[in-house]
Amino acid sequence: MRLGCHIQISGGLSKAVDRAVERGCETIQVFVSNPRGWKQSDILPGDIDAFREGCRSGGIEPVFVHTIYLINLAAPEGEVRDRSIASLVMNMEAAARLGSSAVVTHLGSHGGDGEEEGVRRVIQAVREALRRSPEGVPLLLETTAGSGNSVGHLFEQLGEIVRAFPDEERLGVCFDTCHVFAAGYEIRTRKGLEDTLRKLDEEVGLERLKLVHANDSRGDLGSRVDRHEHIGEGRLGMETFSILARHPVLRKLPWILETPEMTVEWDRENLRRLRQAAGRGAR
Ligand SMILES: [Zn+2]
Ligand SMILES: [Zn+2]
Repeated sequence: MRLGCHIQISGGLSKAVDRAVERGCETIQVFVSNPRGWKQSDILPGDIDAFREGCRSGGIEPVFVHTIYLINLAAPEGEVRDRSIASLVMNMEAAARLGSSAVVTHLGSHGGDGEEEGVRRVIQAVREALRRSPEGVPLLLETTAGSGNSVGHLFEQLGEIVRAFPDEERLGVCFDTCHVFAAGYEIRTRKGLEDTLRKLDEEVGLERLKLVHANDSRGDLGSRVDRHEHIGEGRLGMETFSILARHPVLRKLPWILETPEMTVEWDRENLRRLRQAAGRGAR
């Protein structure tokens, strides 16, 4: 299990590597543009070289690129859909240049048009984005908490999307511990986790599972509330993270923290708690 954090890129990508090293990350996730705007990424070739070299010398890999929050792959035809696909393709291209292992994206919201319609639109948008994206960069669809009209909180929905691409090896899934729990899947007991992963296996296939987002949850089971909490301080608690971190499937994957604050102190503390949960010593 390689542990890391989502790291801010203000000041440039090479700054992000410094922050990751300072925190003791073994893996990293970054945005390549402002996550609250549609502006295209402005990373420079020099930035890319420095980032790759920093990750190499810092022993940081794999690298994940997270798409912006505005992306809505479930939007109806129109400007938002077009911008979302273009933004996703831009992220896939940036990921290829950064030597990233995968792009992670949320699916978006059907805006009241229904889950079935939302899933149908996501399939079409993903198809177009993959067609326009460079080969060799995997795209991970993230499980969502199911707040509002968001798509992707039910494994059945993710399964339907993945099954629409039987020959597409680039398509995978990211398991967010807060989102899965808030969406209504029990993971606090060994039995609960086994049942949840069996369900994911049936719908999506565990071979498609490539990344864990490790977040405690402020919302309760099935609350559909997307509020992250520090490891051990939410409704999941340390006991749950011990069960998760020792599971034979999950422990083989990279784990990325997306906990609040994102200060050095908090990130180091949350990483320490995950290591403790996994039965590993300090780094
Ligand atoms: Zn996440
Ligand atoms: Zn979240």
